[in-house]
Amino acid sequence: MKHEMPKLPYQEDSLQPVISKETIEYHYGKHLQAYVNNINTLIAGTEFEDKNLEEIIKTAPEGGIFNNAGQVLNHTLYFLQFTPEQKQTEPSGKLKEAIEKTFGSFEDFKKEFSATALGLFGSGWAWLSEDNEGKLYITKEANASIPLREGRKPLLCFDVWEHAYYIDYRNKRADYINGLWKIIDWKVIENRMK
Ligand code: MN
Repeated sequence: MKHEMPKLPYQEDSLQPVISKETIEYHYGKHLQAYVNNINTLIAGTEFEDKNLEEIIKTAPEGGIFNNAGQVLNHTLYFLQFTPEQKQTEPSGKLKEAIEKTFGSFEDFKKEFSATALGLFGSGWAWLSEDNEGKLYITKEANASIPLREGRKPLLCFDVWEHAYYIDYRNKRADYINGLWKIIDWKVIENRMK
């Protein structure tokens, strides 16, 4: 199957000032496009040719096919979780319940998630994921890795590859992380739960 770019549910300049139009042009328009192009080229003529991204990620060995499939899904989940409205800044419903059950409060969850994203050495992702019993996990994942690899459902992700923030924040990863909390669409995250 041919893998496609996700359609952004907002304008390229509408996440400013948290994420600039220029960052969207590079991060979405060039980096993600390259991963999409790469995965389509790499799977041609292989056993992965007709598999969807989830199937590839769960079964491909470490290497180019896994890395590019992972990065396409990671970035799809990343770009689709944002909203320009910046209205609803806290989770509600079953997501709120699960967060409070696991982490005590939304503030404690945010603190732990931010620290995980900030503390990740090199390139990778901070993830919130859910296991089959509905338990939530915060993990740091190197490079293209995603909790789906361990059988957990990915819910929320912060990309901390430098390409995600260097145009807008230079080396200040902490400022980028603080900004992202303002543009998360918590309904999208809740809808990713089982
Ligand atoms: Mn990225």
